[in-house]
Amino acid sequence: MNRETSRELYDRSLDVLVGGVNSTVRAAPQPYPTFVQSGDGGHVIDADGNRYIDWVMGLGPLLLGHDLPQPVTAAIQRRASDGPLFGTPTEIEVEHAEFVARHVPSVELLRFVNSGTEATVSAVRLARGYTGRNKIVVMQGGYHGAQESTLVEGDADHRGPSSAGIPPAFAQHTIPVPFNDADAVTEVFETHGDDIAAVLVEPILANKGIVEPVAGYHETLRDLTHDHGALLIWDEVITGFRVGGLGCAQSEFDITPDVTTFGKIIGGGFPVGAIGGRTDVMEEFTPTGDVFQAGTFSGHPVTMAAGLETLQYAAENDVYEHVNRLGGRLREGLAAVVAEHAPAYTVVGRDSMFKVVFTRDGDAQSGACTGGCRQDPDCERHAACPKTGADVGDAAVQRWNRVFRPQLLDAGVLLSQNQFESQFVSYGHTEADVDETIEAYRNAL
Ligand code: PLP
Repeated sequence: MNRETSRELYDRSLDVLVGGVNSTVRAAPQPYPTFVQSGDGGHVIDADGNRYIDWVMGLGPLLLGHDLPQPVTAAIQRRASDGPLFGTPTEIEVEHAEFVARHVPSVELLRFVNSGTEATVSAVRLARGYTGRNKIVVMQGGYHGAQESTLVEGDADHRGPSSAGIPPAFAQHTIPVPFNDADAVTEVFETHGDDIAAVLVEPILANKGIVEPVAGYHETLRDLTHDHGALLIWDEVITGFRVGGLGCAQSEFDITPDVTTFGKIIGGGFPVGAIGGRTDVMEEFTPTGDVFQAGTFSGHPVTMAAGLETLQYAAENDVYEHVNRLGGRLREGLAAVVAEHAPAYTVVGRDSMFKVVFTRDGDAQSGACTGGCRQDPDCERHAACPKTGADVGDAAVQRWNRVFRPQLLDAGVLLSQNQFESQFVSYGHTEADVDETIEAYRNAL
């Protein structure tokens, strides 16, 4: 496959963009990233004219695929031609907020921002302002964007910033705990309960290979936060309007967070984030409360139009039925491939998310993965399935990154940039895309 133009573009970009990219993970593929020229349904075409089945889907926002349906395109064009933005409120922001509040029961009031990172930054500040406390509990291996309060590594006893440029003192206010470990988080609340403003958690770890919650874990977090007067913040930047359809993951898991952060799909492919939650909490934001929050581009009319029309299109068409059915077909097919060729590996994901984690502990004796790990204690290989971010970190990450992904690229299948990032099915994908992908996995594994 000729990728000469991608190579030349990367060479050029290294002169003017840091590391040749505008977001760190994009530089992960070796020896250079694929530069994409255009999208077409469930496919992308690169700068050399090569076509790939695309399971990256913009890292999550593109629920409808690369060809936006006519009503979505028309709404975007109409908004752009009305003038890009005004610095005053517009009706479309109200309509979008009404849609989200109507479908996500825990959300009464919203504030739109411009990225998932901005949403989690604001949500953490809101929780601290609302409770008058400092500490935030996060999950090891969870991801909440490039922000000071959550770029923390270690454990409850020894923790520090996971990036240069963050004062170590900041990390003292963030307590990382292992996902799915009820005892660990209970102990943290016993020690620090009076100073914990919030637990910030993804419903499923979606940036670390996809790790499902074990039964009862989210209920434990809900009870602990409730009992200690802390807030429960669900980071639904990835799962929002993807897992559980229009009700989001919180409807699927039947948990009512106090605050939810959104991003990705709610902007229909344009930069977006949002914080939503109970009125008494949300009104702590300025201008009604004291927690300062603002943004020139927040509630951008073009983004609002793209996001709202995307969600309305999903509500009125068979979008979730389509993406979830293809997601199931993929996971089942991949489970059969794994059973035959790599029984140690685990197929993870739900609804329209999927990944094969190159776990090392499973083996033929404990039975192969049946597809779409649900942390079922009765599953023969329950013990081998990842329960924490660290379990995924222990997988054969380099094999996935350096051997497997390039093989799939050569076969015309574009996977996410590393073993950890989720992959996404869109409305633009077809059964043929799924079957071709399963075949490519079969050949590579
Ligand atoms: N929260 C989660 C769960 C995410 O997956 C991401 C990004 O992938 C973010 C927050 C940050 O969002 P953004 O990249 O839009 O800043």
